[in-house]
Amino acid sequence: MKFDLLTILMAYLIVDAVFAIAFAVTVRRHPTLDGPREWLAACIALFAGFLGICLRGVIPDFVSIVMANSLVLAGVICVWIGIRVFFRLRRHWWLFALFVLPAAVLLGLFTTVWPSVSARQIIMSVFIIAISLCIIRDIRRQRGFALLMETNLLIGFLGAEAVIHAIRLITLIMTPAITGSYILSPEQPDRVFFILLFFTGTARLLIMVTLISARLQGELNQLATQDSLTQLPNRRLLLERLKHGIDVARRNGKQLALLMLDLDRFKAVNDSMGHAAGDELLQQVAVRIRTRLRDVDTVARLGGDEFIVLLEDIVHPEDAARVAEDIVADLSRPFQLSSANENDPESGREVKIGASIGISLHPQHSDNPELLMDQADNAMYEAKQAGRGCFAYFSEEITTVVRKRIALENRLRRAIEQQELRVFYQPQLDMINGRIIGAEALVRWQSPTEGLIPPIHFIPIAEETGLILTIGEWVLRETCRQGQRWKAAGFLPLTLAVNVSPQQFRRCDINKLVATVLAETGFPAGQLELELTESGLMENQDKAVEVLNNLRAQGIRLAIDDFGTGYSSLAYLKRFPVDVLKIDKSFIDDIPHLQDDMEITATIIAMGHTLGFKVLAEGVETQEQLDFLRKKGCDAYQGYFASKPIPAEDFAELLSAQHKNGDDLDKTINHLETTGQS
Ligand code: C2E
Ligand code: MG
Ligand code: MG
Repeated sequence: MKFDLLTILMAYLIVDAVFAIAFAVTVRRHPTLDGPREWLAACIALFAGFLGICLRGVIPDFVSIVMANSLVLAGVICVWIGIRVFFRLRRHWWLFALFVLPAAVLLGLFTTVWPSVSARQIIMSVFIIAISLCIIRDIRRQRGFALLMETNLLIGFLGAEAVIHAIRLITLIMTPAITGSYILSPEQPDRVFFILLFFTGTARLLIMVTLISARLQGELNQLATQDSLTQLPNRRLLLERLKHGIDVARRNGKQLALLMLDLDRFKAVNDSMGHAAGDELLQQVAVRIRTRLRDVDTVARLGGDEFIVLLEDIVHPEDAARVAEDIVADLSRPFQLSSANENDPESGREVKIGASIGISLHPQHSDNPELLMDQADNAMYEAKQAGRGCFAYFSEEITTVVRKRIALENRLRRAIEQQELRVFYQPQLDMINGRIIGAEALVRWQSPTEGLIPPIHFIPIAEETGLILTIGEWVLRETCRQGQRWKAAGFLPLTLAVNVSPQQFRRCDINKLVATVLAETGFPAGQLELELTESGLMENQDKAVEVLNNLRAQGIRLAIDDFGTGYSSLAYLKRFPVDVLKIDKSFIDDIPHLQDDMEITATIIAMGHTLGFKVLAEGVETQEQLDFLRKKGCDAYQGYFASKPIPAEDFAELLSAQHKNGDDLDKTINHLETTGQS
């Protein structure tokens, strides 16, 4: 079998043609690829170059030379793309010209100075260097599509190389005396060299093919589940995650929310600034939404300017609205686009858009993924109708309730900043002698418009939003400061009780906080009592024991608030180092009418004493209740019978009155009754 020059070149050509077609198809399929037009141009130039060499002698010489020279052009384009992509240049064509000229001159010089070095090899090196640069850069930036094309191109080269080496080798083996070919030169009898080239070429090819097919598979998988512009999950992947999320939520009795997001004024940007600007805007929007979410949440793009967010494992319906509000706020900040209007590059690089968000909830609205999406979509139209830049739930009641809560939350935030919170003090009295032995610090919100707002209206929302951490810290500091003032004023030592929310216990280093505040204010640790709830302690018992022990070590007293309403387990009472049990008001309310409550109260008192705790009754309102508690040996009480929670100045007055009246219980109570019940 004989292989002449033409056969070999034809083989070369076929490999390149296949590659060129594959490449062109890839480019067509992914219009968002980097510089597709340039890549295609390089491809065509490459093809034309080899065709020119192949057809030498068949077509007029000058045509084949012109075509062969397009190899140089292909190399130049590749290097240009490499540089452009590397330095992230866009649309600066003059730079291209600046680059092409010196490159062409340089290549010309190369060929003149070293005529023995074949132009093909120079071009090849230029190509490979350029592509390698691009590949390094795109691996760093994890740009799958660009990598796909670059490796394609490399395969084309290496594949062609391998085939040509194989043919050369076979030809040399079979017809050692072949002549008349400038590629298969008989003056190069170094077969080992060719054998080496053959094996390395084939090995390179095999490695590349394996790599590429693996990458391609990955690409294809990604393509099927990813939005090519933003690299976010697409509808398909979102639906899968939604289905899974619903299953998990159903099993664990949790909630999840779906937020359908539509950009306001996006169309205007797209129309006035062009699609490139629109695409860039969508990419930036995707980044902003993504950075706003937790890792467990999903944001997907459904196409156009529609994004959807899946919030798994939310606790309250309004959690979704909070995220929605944050996203709306994020997207209302101006965007800076680099691909502004082509005709007027300086115009409108900064754009402002907004977003409207529709929310559906599982299980409240549906447990069918498609239905949930439709509902979120409907809600989104509601939001748009309501004036854009806002959120709406699929059901109107939830929207109204949540909007109110969020408005309250914002007002509370402002109230904290503008120092509208106050601490009121409710006296705690000794059961035997009726003296004020301490006070519970209870927070109030002094709103300039609504007057005094009780904690029941804002503590729950503060708990949900984490604002309780700020409030709790403030109450603690304010109470210790006040206690120190009373101490300085010469009042007898008082125990001041501060409520610690489960959130505070869980999320902040309460030991450190208390130590700091005590050091700051100078209030003695032994006079500070922290009230904890059973639920807060039960969440993580081991940690609770550790925290409580540390607090105890600082000398702080610990009380269990609302005792009897939670777990009330003897096992934890034994484990937790506690000083005081506060019997919940609900047991006191019906004394002396409900036998059960009386028995429970008596039992708690007896049990508390057995375990070595002091027992305080909350919410004492009548003399009968007081008498009963006293008979059962309760140590202390607080309640409207003695005084409602009152401002610090009024409390100081009570203390002064007690000071004057000495131990005269009735006089103090009288005083409390006439002045204290504010
Ligand atoms: P709590 O800690 O159990 O406080 C006792 C509540 O019972 C207070 O309500 C008090 O005003 C009320 N109370 C006391 N005696 C009587 C009575 O004889 N009759 C009636 N009807 N009520 C009485 P308040 O001040 O509205 O506080 C409610 C809850 O808000 C508190 O329950 C506490 O859980 C929470 N809270 C108040 N201030 C703070 C605070 O600074 N931090 C935290 N984490 N929670 C606080
Ligand atoms: Mg309390
Ligand atoms: Mg209580």
